[in-house]
Amino acid sequence: MLGVGQIDPAAPAVRADDLGFSRGDGCFEATRVVTSPDGQHRIDHLDEHFDRFDSSCAGLDLPPIDRPAWLELIGQLLAGWTLPGEAMLRMLLSRGREWDLPAGVTGVATLVPTSPETLRQRRDGVHAITLRRGFTADAFAEAHWLLGGVKTLSYAVNMAAIREAERRGADDVIFVSTDGVVLEAPTASVVWATDRTLRTTPVGPTGILPGTTQQLLFDRAAEAGWTTETGTARVDDLHAADTVWLISSVRGPVDVVELDGKGRSRDLPVLAEIARFAGFPPAAQ
Ligand code: PLP
Repeated sequence: MLGVGQIDPAAPAVRADDLGFSRGDGCFEATRVVTSPDGQHRIDHLDEHFDRFDSSCAGLDLPPIDRPAWLELIGQLLAGWTLPGEAMLRMLLSRGREWDLPAGVTGVATLVPTSPETLRQRRDGVHAITLRRGFTADAFAEAHWLLGGVKTLSYAVNMAAIREAERRGADDVIFVSTDGVVLEAPTASVVWATDRTLRTTPVGPTGILPGTTQQLLFDRAAEAGWTTETGTARVDDLHAADTVWLISSVRGPVDVVELDGKGRSRDLPVLAEIARFAGFPPAAQ
């Protein structure tokens, strides 16, 4: 990033030849900002997001992020932000301009209030469907060009999957590999619990994104005496689990109240405990 500055959100920020725009060639991060009534801000787990941003850059053969520049940009954004409550901070990074690559990467940060739909899902849970992603569960092993675990700007498939869920009367999707392994949601990790054991899908060969919120949840749950494991599961294992969550930085843990048309019961004390570990308010009031 050459210059850091705040612009009117309606003003153009990206050039027509930007490779983030023309090819989705870049990566991003998103996290929650909580603003108190007296205007104090708390950014959730920024170091963990910066670390994953760096991993994404490495996967894309981009240099590590310029942390001081991002901190300055975020500081400028927050200085003008007084709305109490929750907001989503997005940090977008592209390879830069196709016809002027020496000019370097393009970075943009935005801040918007967390949507009412996100807050509703947190309270009421989500209806999810399973959809095939089209890869085997080990397709990303030894195939770094598939960009497994990289939070790329190319989320068009993820958004198409959510639209498909909506067409089918649901809210969200759990992707499954062609060989039947539960992967992740389009914008969230999948976590499931049986008794006091939390499980999630392993990263690496599966190509799923390492979730910062899932990791935080597992660390705090383990401190509180839960067993935490990574392991592959099939859709039947999700049906058999006590609780299934989609979990991410801005939405927090939202429990799946219906999976492929089958209703699931809610254990409110467990939902409250998991939400607390992840740093979010209880799911259902
Ligand atoms: N998986 C995918 C595909 C995501 O897009 C996200 C978040 O946006 C996650 C998992 C959860 O990651 P985090 O908890 O770091 O937000």
